[in-house]
Amino acid sequence: MSVIVLAEHTQGVFKKKTLELVQYAAGIAQSMGTTTTAVVLGDATDAEMQGLGQYGANKVLQVADSRLDTLNARAYSKALIAAAQKEGAKVVVAPHDVTGKAVAPRVAAALKAGMVAGAVSAPDLSKGFVVKKNVFAGKAFAFVNVTSDVKVITLMPNTFQVKAGAGSASVEKLDVAFEDKDFSVKVKAVNKVTGEVPLSEAELVVSGGRGMKGPENWGILEDLAHELGAALACSRPVADSHWRPHHEHVGQTGGTIRPNLYIAVGISGAIQHLAGVNGSKTIVVINKDPEAPFFKAADYGVVGDALEIVPKLTEAVKKFKA
Ligand code: FAD
Repeated sequence: MSVIVLAEHTQGVFKKKTLELVQYAAGIAQSMGTTTTAVVLGDATDAEMQGLGQYGANKVLQVADSRLDTLNARAYSKALIAAAQKEGAKVVVAPHDVTGKAVAPRVAAALKAGMVAGAVSAPDLSKGFVVKKNVFAGKAFAFVNVTSDVKVITLMPNTFQVKAGAGSASVEKLDVAFEDKDFSVKVKAVNKVTGEVPLSEAELVVSGGRGMKGPENWGILEDLAHELGAALACSRPVADSHWRPHHEHVGQTGGTIRPNLYIAVGISGAIQHLAGVNGSKTIVVINKDPEAPFFKAADYGVVGDALEIVPKLTEAVKKFKA
């Protein structure tokens, strides 16, 4: 019996959301009096995998097949199911991102497990196995009691602070009998995310909406982000209009972020947008419409034309740093 966790990585580098997930799984394991096994798919070095011990993993099971270096939902699911069966897993934890959303339901179906998608709490074992999750785009919470023998949870990234401790995980290989049909989906290209600071990891974020008028005006947001050491984000219509790449889109249908500071420029504050950013510690809104809904969620608001205010803010940041 153990808790297993899908430990996503990019060429052996485990991102903040993976470390958070391992820590989350370890917390569940501890409250259940069992151990945590991280499942690593594809190539990673032993040292990198042992490092997951700092976040609570007791063991790493690596399926070292380089065809798993990029997401393949069918093969990933097969590997995770094999790992769960080997470990006699009672709980399987995956990220609530593109990978987890593709893999977790397949794993849950195969293991006849109940599943909570988009959890924002650890399970409350005093009441059964009750997990809190967002519903209605973060406007309300549901508390789900999972009664099946095996449980699958996808955790909303950036829900918990990550803290490294001492510890080193042991590493074992797991052989999975893949068939050609497991790789019938071919990855043709992998586009690298550009930008000075990766959005999902950023503590400071500068975000633009349709009020920026067009992609030609993004230079002033880039300058501000550069001065602050912030990542760039945007609203969905901005990405849909190809003003900015889709990986910058935050909200219900985009990324979920919880930075220390979120500066929203020319964004109205629709519920679907807030769903991805309302966990931010401090929200600053710049909007020319004093009635814009985003002001209700803001800690600080500036009413005015973004094209005039943002360059002034950048100058102020420069002076402050000088
Ligand atoms: P607008 O609503 O057009 O707002 C532009 C704002 O800019 C206005 O408040 C305006 O006052 C202000 N403005 C204009 N000019 C200036 C200026 N010169 N200076 C300062 N301010 C100015 N949206 C998301 O963002 N993320 C999602 O994940 C998402 N998912 C969705 C899922 C579904 C199922 C649906 C139905 C919608 C979703 N949306 C999402 C869309 C969402 O409902 C809004 O339409 C969208 O967030 C609006 O984007 P916006 O604020 O950039 O544009």
